[in-house]
Amino acid sequence: MTTIPQVRTALDRSILGPENPAVPFDHPFRAEFASWLAEHVPAGPAPEGEDALFAQRRDWQATMHRGGWAGLTWPREYGGRADGPLTQLMAYEELALHRAPEPANTPGMILLGPTLMQLGTEELKQRFLPRILSGEDLFCQGFSEPDSGSDLASLRTRARLDGGFWVIDGQKIWTTFADRADYCFVLARTEPDSVRHRGLTLLICPTDQPGVTIRTIEQISGDHEFAEVFFDGVHCPASWVVGEPGQGWSAAMTLFQFERGDPGYTDHARLLVELVDARDAVRAAGARVSQPARADLGGRAVDLWRRCQELRALNVRLALLAEAGGRIAETGSVTNLVWGELAKDVADLSADAAELTGTDLRVAIHHRLASRAKSIYSGTTEIQRTVIAERLLGLPR
Ligand SMILES: Cc1cc2nc3c(=O)[nH]c(=O)nc-3n(C[C@H](O)[C@H](O)[C@H](O)COP(=O)(O)OP(=O)(O)OC[C@H]3O[C@@H](n4cnc5c(N)ncnc54)[C@H](O)[C@@H]3O)c2cc1C
Repeated sequence: MTTIPQVRTALDRSILGPENPAVPFDHPFRAEFASWLAEHVPAGPAPEGEDALFAQRRDWQATMHRGGWAGLTWPREYGGRADGPLTQLMAYEELALHRAPEPANTPGMILLGPTLMQLGTEELKQRFLPRILSGEDLFCQGFSEPDSGSDLASLRTRARLDGGFWVIDGQKIWTTFADRADYCFVLARTEPDSVRHRGLTLLICPTDQPGVTIRTIEQISGDHEFAEVFFDGVHCPASWVVGEPGQGWSAAMTLFQFERGDPGYTDHARLLVELVDARDAVRAAGARVSQPARADLGGRAVDLWRRCQELRALNVRLALLAEAGGRIAETGSVTNLVWGELAKDVADLSADAAELTGTDLRVAIHHRLASRAKSIYSGTTEIQRTVIAERLLGLPR
């Protein structure tokens, strides 16, 4: 029968489940990174309020960078450590075990950075990659539009070359951190008569300039993490193209493999830590939680723990594939699908446990509401299923 492991300390690696030989618990990298984390992770609960939380994320990114731990898999010439994907996976696990904050620049570090390394010119790589890692330049992702979310190829934002600049007109929506970012990577239609996925270009556009209007949108959680972004004759240099002009769809697909397959997003370790915390809160509450409620939570927790192990196996498999030089491609949709649904169910369990025990109830309810977005923002559950069916299984459209 499956059971959640008994853990002796908050940092006990058996929280993660049975040891996997690809990412062993006694790997020297873990010991070195863990001892640095023990000294540097901010103590105490997360700060209250979105601004304070984001400030902590910026500080944490700068701390990681100063310590030499940002961009583990990135080449040394751009500020990384040239480690492999399995080391990166162990790092994500150690970060979760130490309850470290997330860095501020995830759109830059997980999405644009790896895409630039594959498709960017040397000029763009040298200009942006080190500043993405340090957090000096924050990025947001300008893909979705009001009528073009799942159907991204129908997007209407346009850009035309005028002298040495692209001039952008149009509107993006749901743009995470738009109001905090210095740059937006914008997918725009650059060939006037083109349709669908042809004639698009991925551009890097500074957001602090006339013609850019940003209006934040309130989420169900009460947060204002994302925004509408309006472009009215906005300029970016002609050479700030990721990939080739007219090949933006291919650049977007390259970026999606990181968005869907990077365990920095589809993080099994943070879910496992959350699950063990909920279990411990119920235990600590003792007789305040009735026996039937305890049995219900216990059964759900064991099932979720098993699903977290499946996600962990998928993340290890992708890291092994990447370590061997393989492309993640559409396989990322499998991990993303499993993660999105699982993360919502774990958040539900945490909130139910908090309701019964009275522990951190406000935080847990906020977390439950915020988690609803996890099966939407890197492609909805339905879209991931379609990608898996058509492109991985070869089923008819
Ligand atoms: C918190 C959050 C942050 C986000 N951040 C960003 C960001 O930084 N940058 C960015 O560009 N976008 C961002 N997005 C937008 C996200 O990518 C879109 O919400 C997502 O792609 C879905 O698009 P949509 O909202 O237009 O919904 P729609 O595409 O209108 O979908 C509505 C519903 O219809 C279903 N549906 C649509 N088409 C199909 C189909 N062909 N088959 C079956 N079902 C279908 C969907 O699954 C969904 O349930 C974010 C979204 C959220 C929630």
